[in-house]
Amino acid sequence: MSETLEFQTEAKQLLQLMIHSLYSHKEIFLREIVSNASDALDKIRFESLINSNVKIDADSLKITISVDKDSRRLTVSDNGIGMNRDELISNLGTIARSGSKAFLENLSGDQKLDSNLIGQFGVGFYSVFMVASKVEVLTKRFGEDKAFRWTSGADTTYQIEEAARIENGTDIIIYLNENENEYLEDYKLKNLVKKYSSFIAFPVQMASSDKEKAGEMETINSLKPIWERSASEIKDEEYEEFYTQACGGFGKPLKTIHTKAEGTMEYSALAFIPEKLSPFEIYNQERKHGVKLYVKKVFISDDVKDLLPEYLRFVRGIVDSADLPLNVSREILQDNPIIGKIRKALTSKIFSELKKLAEKDKEKYESFWREFGTIVKEGLYNDYENREELTELVRFNSSNGETKEYLTSFDEYISRMNEKQKDIYYILGETYENVRKSPNMELFRDKKIEVIYFTDPIDEFIVPALFDVKGKELKNIADDKLDLGDLDDEDKTALEKNEKKYKKFVGRVKNILEANVEEVRITQRLKESPARVVNGGGAVGVQMEKMMKAMGQPVPKSKKILEINANHAVIEKLNSLYEKDPKGEDLQEWANLLYEQALIASGQPVKDLSAYMQRINKMFEKAIS
Ligand code: ADP
Repeated sequence: MSETLEFQTEAKQLLQLMIHSLYSHKEIFLREIVSNASDALDKIRFESLINSNVKIDADSLKITISVDKDSRRLTVSDNGIGMNRDELISNLGTIARSGSKAFLENLSGDQKLDSNLIGQFGVGFYSVFMVASKVEVLTKRFGEDKAFRWTSGADTTYQIEEAARIENGTDIIIYLNENENEYLEDYKLKNLVKKYSSFIAFPVQMASSDKEKAGEMETINSLKPIWERSASEIKDEEYEEFYTQACGGFGKPLKTIHTKAEGTMEYSALAFIPEKLSPFEIYNQERKHGVKLYVKKVFISDDVKDLLPEYLRFVRGIVDSADLPLNVSREILQDNPIIGKIRKALTSKIFSELKKLAEKDKEKYESFWREFGTIVKEGLYNDYENREELTELVRFNSSNGETKEYLTSFDEYISRMNEKQKDIYYILGETYENVRKSPNMELFRDKKIEVIYFTDPIDEFIVPALFDVKGKELKNIADDKLDLGDLDDEDKTALEKNEKKYKKFVGRVKNILEANVEEVRITQRLKESPARVVNGGGAVGVQMEKMMKAMGQPVPKSKKILEINANHAVIEKLNSLYEKDPKGEDLQEWANLLYEQALIASGQPVKDLSAYMQRINKMFEKAIS
């Protein structure tokens, strides 16, 4: 008895999209169906490895493609794990992945990109509806008695009924549309398999087209996995195909790392550094790790999180180990010393390749850094062992550059250091413009001392963890006790003179701002600005403050210090105002404004914005009338 069921809403949407919107790369449907068959074979092989009750002949696992021109049918069969009734419903009637919504939202309209996305978002099966208006799935789950037929005519429903099938596995029977005759042709199908499925590790077979071998089956794919071949004989296109089709890569690989280790440890790895993150990765929180594990060419898992550190999670690829047992279970993989060794070796290989790239092709490296730098920097605070290597990869903007796009390294910074300079100076802030124009920069600009601009939100967390680079300490120029060492050539007598001159005025300002600042003092370090705010001990950064607020945590009250530029005309005038009327209301307002604008200039938030605006308006009015 046949039962009619309704597709889930999102599945309907996707199906309609396949039928109506994506025409130019229809041929990828075959790739999707073949790779599903391959996954089903992987699954049964894996089960037989870890479960002694599952007995199969590993050599019999295969994918078969056949055509029947008269009824316009194209069939892709496998003897893999198969599906039972519930699995048919949940796998083919719904889209369980949270990614599918993101997929629908992320279609670019660019056919090539979009068809690439189809594979990534795991909506592959529906792509058959680009070439067919009817599809049948005849399947039997391994170890179960009943077989089922799933049928859909590309509308809003599908049918399921019991069917006859002896062997476990699945036939996908595609009833091709009138204008899709090419997919009934032998040579076309063979070419497609060669083009898209060369990395499939099971034989893909078709009836031989050789007349003398009529009735015999022929294996179309090479079966030797790409990572087993020597790098010199692999074409770029083959790597790219493997990267997008087998590793779920997006766009093109920026760098391909193909390596074989022999000796105490035996493994092959093919790792790709992508050009960019896919929209899927940006939106999908529950993504898997990018590197798949094989043992002696047998696929084991695509979710071994320890194969690479978290901060290299954008790397795609495979690792094939000869040292792990084939029947390795997921539990064994956790904290496994062999996996640990592979991770260590592969991580340092990736580092050295990135370093090479930075030397050979600066532009390419910088584009890598712009895309992935924020993620890589996470390693600075959680991978102590590799900290030195990681600091060499870090790029940042600095006052040495003229544009927002400028990037430089710690090595380059150090090579430009002033001979009297002992430490590395940096400024934290939210944007490039913000830090560049900060009053804190004035002294350093005047002295021609380079300052690193750390403007990535994560910088505030990693810089303290960095502490020193090549024996040079990192110093925040907004620190209230910043010691300039030999660079300090301040005229101490002038400072003392000014301190004396403004003593009473400073006392009054402190008095006015009592609720907000810890201290008010005279400085000689400012050039153009009348005042600045520096942070005393216990201060948390702007990003940290935001995070704590978002998590509902109390933010420790930071001590703010207002530094006044004794050589500035505004201060001179405020001082005369003070001398005329020490308790005057205007002085109060001006002192508050001085503080608030110093906050803004240093990239710190003004607590009560509306009070600040009112003050400005009030003083405007007075000045005009
Ligand atoms: P994906 O393969 O990315 O998961 P698909 O839409 O292509 O997405 O397939 C959905 C699911 O249907 C698969 O995850 C798998 O569980 C099941 N499936 C598809 N084809 C087969 C097959 N030949 N054998 C067994 N299961 C299959």
